[in-house]
Amino acid sequence: MTETSRRNRQPGLSTRAIHLGYDPATENGALTPPIYMTSTYAFETAEQGSELFRGERKGYIYGRTKNPTQTILEERIASLEGGETAIALGSGMAAISGTMLSLLDAGDEVVIDHTLYGNAYAYFTQALPRWGISVKLADFTRPETLEAALGPKTKLVYFETPANPNLRVIDIAAVAAIAHAHGAEVVVDNTFATPILQRPLEHGADIVLHSATKYIGGHGDVLAGLVVGRAETLQKVRQTGLRWVTGATLSPFNCFLLLRGLKTLELRVERHSSSAMKVARLLEGHAKVASVSYPGLESFAEHEIAKRQMSGFGGLISFELDGGMAEGMALMNRLELVTRAVSLGDAETLIQHPASMTHAIYSAEEREKHGISDGLLRLSVGLENVDDILDDLERALDSL
Ligand SMILES: *Cc1c(COP(=O)(O)O)cnc(C)c1O
Repeated sequence: MTETSRRNRQPGLSTRAIHLGYDPATENGALTPPIYMTSTYAFETAEQGSELFRGERKGYIYGRTKNPTQTILEERIASLEGGETAIALGSGMAAISGTMLSLLDAGDEVVIDHTLYGNAYAYFTQALPRWGISVKLADFTRPETLEAALGPKTKLVYFETPANPNLRVIDIAAVAAIAHAHGAEVVVDNTFATPILQRPLEHGADIVLHSATKYIGGHGDVLAGLVVGRAETLQKVRQTGLRWVTGATLSPFNCFLLLRGLKTLELRVERHSSSAMKVARLLEGHAKVASVSYPGLESFAEHEIAKRQMSGFGGLISFELDGGMAEGMALMNRLELVTRAVSLGDAETLIQHPASMTHAIYSAEEREKHGISDGLLRLSVGLENVDDILDDLERALDSL
């Protein structure tokens, strides 16, 4: 990079994740932004309070819709994703439901991809239809099938890439082009990739959301959700989805934990990715392993799209053993360092069995149709010394 190009660009991802939107001089020099533990805010005068409520004055009114610790977090994630603005909510599911219930009305339709996180799948296929919103499914890895699913009532299309649990990678730009041609907006769950590896708005998505419980928090100690998009759209989500539909605000303390997680996000994601690549290669080469899904492997079905769309391949791997589910359960029980737990993106390497755990909400027929086989195991490669992770897996596999 030349000196001029270095000076003219915006600060890099980590620099923004650490500094953006906060000046210690405004808070007695405190290096770390304070946690504003307050539920409400005093008005200087009655008139000022009324102006705040009418939106004629900028400021804080009440903790359900806004808090200064939360504002810093929202500005940082918006910047990392390249969006105008963001909203923090109490969990990933709150981010999904707050967004959908703000943007969809009875009679509208949403088209979702086959493979979603289990509770998101339940939300779309079981909850939304109860309120008169129809939901159609399509295989987004073949964008041409999307064309048939989109109709005049389709308001939104929704997918994850890479998808939970089988890592399917979807071409965001291809889906966005088809959706936009039909007047539908595109919502992408970017939990697995994080803005470090993939920024869906740059590929044409309209809204990005996260379970910040995962990589953004990064330490297995907080539940949180984030939504990023255009200011006008997100104003609707704040005023209805957050303020009076779900009330699912994120506590100031949890905002602090996410601000802390963001500071090391780039560093952590790089390590998760480099370790996962080594683990994927070990699995691919092991005699007991029938198949491995990792976007970084040349053998992965959507490897070319992943290379184009992502700057790295992340920390999630799914794989299946020759002995199917029974052998998979035996493997899980023989691991000593790798921990049996759902969730992902933590410092600890975690393993779980989607068919009986995170995706048990799908029926057996749905799982079969949607590529979530009974023998599939999902591994979230953590930040431990990679040789220790490899040793544990190899020893357990050899013992089968
Ligand atoms: C975990 C997860 C969610 C739900 O997030 P919570 O924070 O657990 O509510 C949504 N999407 C994906 C891809 C997830 O992995």
